[in-house]
Amino acid sequence: MSLQEATTPDSKTLNSVQDNKHSAQQKYSRKNPYPAELLKRVKLNAEGSAKETIHLEFKLEEAALTYEAGDSLAVLAHNADDVVQDIITLTKLNSSSLVKIKGESYTLLESLTSKLDITTLSLSVIKRYNELISDNQLEELLKPENKNDLQDYISGREIIDLLYEFPAEELSADALISIMRKLPSRLYSIASSPKAHPQEVHLTVGVVRYHTHGRERKGVCSTFLAERISKGSKAEVFVTTNKKFKLPVNNETPIIMVGPGTGIAPFRAFIEERKATNASGKNWLFFGDQHYSTDFLYQSEWQNYLNEGILTKLDVAFSRDQKEKIYVQNRMLDNSRELFAWLEKGAYFYVCGDATRMANDVDDALHYIIEKEGGLEQEDAKAYVKKLKDEKRYLRDVY
Ligand SMILES: Cc1cc2nc3c(=O)[nH]c(=O)nc-3n(C[C@H](O)[C@H](O)[C@H](O)COP(=O)(O)OP(=O)(O)OC[C@H]3O[C@@H](n4cnc5c(N)ncnc54)[C@H](O)[C@@H]3O)c2cc1C
Repeated sequence: MSLQEATTPDSKTLNSVQDNKHSAQQKYSRKNPYPAELLKRVKLNAEGSAKETIHLEFKLEEAALTYEAGDSLAVLAHNADDVVQDIITLTKLNSSSLVKIKGESYTLLESLTSKLDITTLSLSVIKRYNELISDNQLEELLKPENKNDLQDYISGREIIDLLYEFPAEELSADALISIMRKLPSRLYSIASSPKAHPQEVHLTVGVVRYHTHGRERKGVCSTFLAERISKGSKAEVFVTTNKKFKLPVNNETPIIMVGPGTGIAPFRAFIEERKATNASGKNWLFFGDQHYSTDFLYQSEWQNYLNEGILTKLDVAFSRDQKEKIYVQNRMLDNSRELFAWLEKGAYFYVCGDATRMANDVDDALHYIIEKEGGLEQEDAKAYVKKLKDEKRYLRDVY
């Protein structure tokens, strides 16, 4: 054994030391969030893109908040001032009236800005509101047999629409806030490795903006991160550990990562981690978005990792650069033989991003590849995938 081998802790020992440190230090939570200073915000899409994706870097004081590649960061956002103001104006309430939430007093303005979910319209919000205003039309809509009509009404609407379309003759500040739930935190897959960026945490955020029922809408947290905190100011955050989305303990194990759009975030963290730990395992990334020229998130970083040999293989799919749509699952199918060979060599298969369509399409492609390249019947391919899951080699972080 060489001197270096004798004195350097092996990666397993290192991991378990870090695990202990990690769990001991998770003292920050929703109730006790950490005020993280925004160091940097960069728009990742080029001019002309239909997308608005931002990269954010927050400062973490030494040992204050620890995380590992694969974890998520929860952010406690503030609502948009104009949405708060619209509600106050519409209800003709005084923004400095005092209201109580769980025994604590706040001004109405404070409570609507940072304590309550003032946007999400749901069955329970409508129910609670109708208990206050007793409107015949809402009464009808709330009947169980009108479930579909209620869903149609809710779709694309927010609390402001309900207040506008069914105005209360008189509503106290306490009554208004009684229809709202607590403002939930939003989770973001962490896009950095703490080994590559000590005392920092990075995020990749897709900013939600859309137009429905005559109003411009803004996703609460993504627009908070995009425009309502400035460099040098602080956002309240806490780490949520994700034990089910971690790199293999054995760093020689190859990994395949499928992360279109903001799904790229944890894979930036993974690659940084694999580089920082001199991991010898091969790394294959599938990335996709709308256009090569405007939406290739972190393009230069991937290029550098390829040149350095850290990234073994990069396959990209830009869905709108040609007539027929091409997605990450198409790139997987183009590379089916090699992908199957990697799985046979023990590769872990990771998927991150859109849960509604992408994750299912990727799952279908994976089954197809195993069936075709493994010469298996459909049922056997299913069993192969189940085994991957049982062995915790097929890991997903989808939302
Ligand atoms: C484990 C996990 C990891 C995540 N990681 C990331 C990440 O790395 N990056 C990232 O960007 N996001 C990530 N998310 C999603 C993130 O948590 C938020 O859900 C997202 O940023 C939207 O939050 P928001 O507050 O901006 O929007 P909200 O205020 O919550 O509004 C979003 C809602 O608006 C509605 N809506 C959106 N578009 C339309 C439309 N066109 N028409 C009608 N209604 C619409 C939908 O009801 C949608 O649910 C992750 C989620 C989870 C659970």
